[in-house]
Amino acid sequence: MSTSGEPHCKKRKLADALDDAYTGGAARAQSAVIRDEHIWFEDGTIIVRAGPGCTGAGAVYGFRCHGSVLAARSPVFKTMLQLPNDSGERLEGAHCVDLTDAWEDVRDLLRLLYDFFDLTIVNANASRHPNTLAFIAGPMRLAAKYEMDSVLEQLRPLLTRDWPDTFEDWLRTERAQGEYQWPELQDPAAVVQLAQQARVRSVLPGAYYDLARVYLHTAQFHSVAERFADARRLARDDLERVAAGRERIARHVGALPMLHMDEEYARCALAGAGVLCRKLVVGSGSPCVEGFRVWWRDSALEQMETLFRDPLAVLDAQGRELHGAFPPKRIDTICRACRIWYSCHFLKEAQELWEKLPEFFELSSLPF
Ligand SMILES: [Zn+2]
Repeated sequence: MSTSGEPHCKKRKLADALDDAYTGGAARAQSAVIRDEHIWFEDGTIIVRAGPGCTGAGAVYGFRCHGSVLAARSPVFKTMLQLPNDSGERLEGAHCVDLTDAWEDVRDLLRLLYDFFDLTIVNANASRHPNTLAFIAGPMRLAAKYEMDSVLEQLRPLLTRDWPDTFEDWLRTERAQGEYQWPELQDPAAVVQLAQQARVRSVLPGAYYDLARVYLHTAQFHSVAERFADARRLARDDLERVAAGRERIARHVGALPMLHMDEEYARCALAGAGVLCRKLVVGSGSPCVEGFRVWWRDSALEQMETLFRDPLAVLDAQGRELHGAFPPKRIDTICRACRIWYSCHFLKEAQELWEKLPEFFELSSLPF
């Protein structure tokens, strides 16, 4: 898969992140610090604090680490640590730095930085894992905020593995989906949100497509039988993109040549497949065209609803049914040469649709 040309880590203004980080200065952590079991080095020069207690009431979690390490990995931290510490607060000789980010995200980011974060659980598979987002979303968001490119580079491949950026990888991932159908764990709305926060543009065509094929919901409870996307994660622009994308996909599917099976398509099919057709009778054409027409009529009727919702999956599945070494009985009136031709045609249509996704979802209007 390719991530080349990714406009990753477009520099944000330091001030944005610094503003966030130092609001804790006024409302300093009052409670005792709960020390992280891994990130507490006796020679650490700073104590990063996070948690509800940093801004109000509640627990405060502390991470004693090295200012030089943070500064070397993050220009935002570098600037932050060069500023005079307005609180001047020290704990056991180390300067305190209060962050307003979720403490779990701070913990995961620092553990990643110091190699205490075990990614093997989600990394072991070659394809999608139901917990990828739960593992990477927090640290990835913070890595983008604090401009930690090396951490982003480490996490980005997991996101692109689950929402591939090429047609071939998308198909392979979808086919391997199999056992992992747990919807809430991989909410496409959360992927769209994370991809924008971490500026990983390449996953967005697949993520928006995934979003467009599932139902949006805003209620808290829903049936687990269907996949849902949590619309509350989406900005108005995202919702407009999904609505427009869905319409364009439906229009595109409605115009697919095989859906009409008109004379022109039959002629094209014959021109394409007829050369190799093993049943071709000179002067009277090939019975394979009629065989295909009957198969597709039944097949399309069975899957019409899914075809409009998830055309890539249907075109791929139909193409594979045609191509299979042991085709079902209902297509055995079509010779193998014609089946392969039709199968390639289905794949070509799927690929053309995939390539139109950035346009369908208006991704050129994204600000990164
Ligand atoms: Zn044939």
